[in-house]
Amino acid sequence: MAGILFIISAPSGSGKSTLVNQLRSLVTDLEFSVSYTTRVPRGSEQQGREYHYISRSRFEEMIGQGEFLEWARVFGNYYGTASRSLTDAQTAGKDLLLDIDVQGAAQVREKVPDAVSIFVLPPNPLVLATRLRNRSRAEGSVLEDEIDGRLAKARVEIQNYSQYRYILVNDILDHAVEALTAIVIAERARRHGAPQDPETARMIQLAERCRQPNATDRLYPVLSSFGLLDMHATHA
Ligand code: ADP
Ligand code: 5GP
Repeated sequence: MAGILFIISAPSGSGKSTLVNQLRSLVTDLEFSVSYTTRVPRGSEQQGREYHYISRSRFEEMIGQGEFLEWARVFGNYYGTASRSLTDAQTAGKDLLLDIDVQGAAQVREKVPDAVSIFVLPPNPLVLATRLRNRSRAEGSVLEDEIDGRLAKARVEIQNYSQYRYILVNDILDHAVEALTAIVIAERARRHGAPQDPETARMIQLAERCRQPNATDRLYPVLSSFGLLDMHATHA
C-alpha cells in the first residue's frame, strides 16, 4: 500500500527544521527526503544529511533529465526533490516527509493531490527576527540585510497559508512538536484505521484543532502581527 506524502513548509527561521528533527525522533516509519541544493552547507551541515550539495550546472543537468518531482529557486539558489525519493518510499510502502518551500509544495500538490500539507508559522515578526539572528549568530555571522530579506519573504510566503491542510504556530516548541506528531498520527489513523485507545483519540483531537478552518484563533493573531489580517480575514 502506498504511504502518505507529508509536505511541510514555513518561512525560513520559523523552526521547521527543529520541529522536523524532533518529529523524526518520535515517530517511526517516516522517511525524510534529502533535497538537492546549490547553496553551500551552513554551520555543521553535512553532505547527504541535510542536503545533497551540488553545483549549479549539475542541478540544471538534473532538471534537463527530468529527475525532479519539483524544484524551485529560493534565495537565489536552486532546491529540488528527486522523483526517486517518492518512488523509493512508495515501493517500500513508507510515509515520506518533504521539507520544501511554497512553490515546491504547489508543484507537488498538482502531482499528488492527496498529499498532506502543513504550514508552520512563527508567532510574529519580532520572534522570527530573533530566531533568524540567533541561528546566524550560532553559525558564525549575522548579516542584517539577509535577515531583512528573509523577513520580507516571510511576509509574502505566509500569504500562501490557505493552500495548506494544517496550520501550526511554532510558539512553545514542545506544544508545536506534539501538534506535529498528532497530525502524523491522525492522518495515519484516517488512512489505516485508528486503534481505539484514549491517547490516539487525544492526538486525533489535537490534530483536528490544527486543521486550517479550526485554527483561526491561532492564525489570525499571526496574520495581524505581519499586517496581513485585513487582506485575509475576509476570505475565511
Ligand atoms: P527553519 O528550519 O524554519 O529555517 P530552524 O529550525 O533552523 O528554522 O529554527 C530557527 C531558530 O529558531 C533556531 O535557532 C532554533 O533553535 C530556534 N527555534 C525553533 N523553534 C523554536 C521555538 N519554538 N522557540 C524558540 N526557538 C526556536
Ligand atoms: P534553507 O536554505 O534555509 O535550508 O532552506 C530555504 C528554503 O528552501 C526552505 O523554505 C526550505 O523548505 C526550502 N527547500 C528545501 N529543500 C527544498 C526542495 O527540495 N524544494 C523546494 N521547492 N524547496 C526546498
